[in-house]
Amino acid sequence: MKMNNENCTVCGEYLIAGSIIDEKIICHECLTEEQQGLMNSLNKSDVSHVDGYFSLTEEQRNLFLTVYKKHLSGMGTVMRQNFMPQQIKEVKYDDTEKTVNVYFESDWFHYASDNTWY
Ligand SMILES: [Zn+2]
Repeated sequence: MKMNNENCTVCGEYLIAGSIIDEKIICHECLTEEQQGLMNSLNKSDVSHVDGYFSLTEEQRNLFLTVYKKHLSGMGTVMRQNFMPQQIKEVKYDDTEKTVNVYFESDWFHYASDNTWY
C-alpha cells in the first residue's frame, strides 16, 4: 500500500492518506465498505465446492464460515487475493486439535472454535 494525496476514486472525497488498490485510489471509508460488502456476500454457496465441505457437520461448517470471514476481513485487499473461496482446496475436521483445517493453494490454517485461526 502506498500513501497518496488525491481524491478517492469511489466517493470523490479528497484524501490525505489513502491506499492504491488495483491501480485505483480509495479512501479508508470506501475500502472498509468494500470489505464489508464482500464479507456480507460471502455465503455457503461460495464454499460448497470445496473438497471435504460436505463431510463437515453443520456446526463445523458454520465455524469454518465464521472464522473464514473474520480471517479475510483482517487482510488487505492485495493479500486477500490469495485467500478467496476459489483458492480453498480442502477443508477437514481435525479431531486432535478440534479445529477445522483449511487448505488454500499457498498456505493452510486451523480454524478454532473460539473464532481464531493459527
Ligand atoms: Zn472514498
